[in-house]
Amino acid sequence: MAGERSSTSTSTVQMTTARYAGDRSREVDAAMIEHHRDEWPQLACVTERCDCLVHAVHKAPTETTAGRSAHFARNATSVHADCCHLGTTRQVEILEKMSGGELKAVGKHRDPLRGDVFLHRIPVPAAFDETPEQRPGQPPEVTPLTFARQIVPILNTAVKIAKLYQRYSDSDVDPHMEFQAECSGQPVEWPNFFYTRNRAIWFARRIRTAQKARTKLDPNMSPAQHRVSPLTHPVAVMFHIDRAPVESQYGKGEGWARGRLPVPADHDVPDEWVFIEGPLERLKTMFADAGTVRDSLYLGFGMWTVSKPTPRYPFGRLTLDVSAHHTSVCPISGDITKRVRTHWAAGRCDPETPLIRRELDQSP
Ligand SMILES: [Zn+2]
Repeated sequence: MAGERSSTSTSTVQMTTARYAGDRSREVDAAMIEHHRDEWPQLACVTERCDCLVHAVHKAPTETTAGRSAHFARNATSVHADCCHLGTTRQVEILEKMSGGELKAVGKHRDPLRGDVFLHRIPVPAAFDETPEQRPGQPPEVTPLTFARQIVPILNTAVKIAKLYQRYSDSDVDPHMEFQAECSGQPVEWPNFFYTRNRAIWFARRIRTAQKARTKLDPNMSPAQHRVSPLTHPVAVMFHIDRAPVESQYGKGEGWARGRLPVPADHDVPDEWVFIEGPLERLKTMFADAGTVRDSLYLGFGMWTVSKPTPRYPFGRLTLDVSAHHTSVCPISGDITKRVRTHWAAGRCDPETPLIRRELDQSP
């Protein structure tokens, strides 16, 4: 049956590097496997603080396009440490627990190149808050307090999922699992739901394109209409701020905080900014630590917009209005490995992730 734990426990990550079990500094590469044949000493996992024993697996004949290149795999009798991202089954268990059981396995799909890929989905509450009239049969509006209680564990889990994706990408490993958010019953592929700071410019571009199309349809759009997000589901975006909250010149008690996003040299917009807007006092509480914690990262969740162009910001700014319903901004906690944090905080951009929507295979 789709969704059973057994669907994930059989998956084994193919590792491209390993090390001598007795010597953490002696790493070996999968490219060496074919030359070495079976003359290896006992090998182990390369992840810091993991002593899981692994073995070399030779290249398989390529009868299908899948083929199998030489790699290292976990010994059947050994397990990865809890902190090791290569223990995918354990990582999913930790995520399920963290999400209060909200994260669920929902089956697998077969990728011609990658083989079986296991799918996990996490439901996001109040996803279509901005358009309640389009949700017949939905429960009544969620109060801000209920919403906060629901969303915080979901966002914490989302950050943990993002960390895992980053670690797999950094170690060039395919975990054979993917995550989705579920917004009002609709699956949303992870790259469309969660943007790390290094991908956020692609999100700004996506909104800008949608807003341009909308303005074309209605050239007389009012500023209020312009502030309605073109998104069909809320999105989580990571950012850090380089300007602590200040009072807005437009409204008493209103304010904004600002952060710059990394942009590649040939990007179509020279500067990309994140603006968090709303009641000044609320912003001050939200960003109380800003400036004292180096590289403090935040996650903003909600229906983002790109603001109307101004002379100072001729391409508009990626904006989240925290006075809107069902919006959340929270600091990203410190338990991120140094390498992942450095990547997220750095000025480097990641390429946009190509998005392929796949048919879900619900077979056993
Ligand atoms: Zn390990």
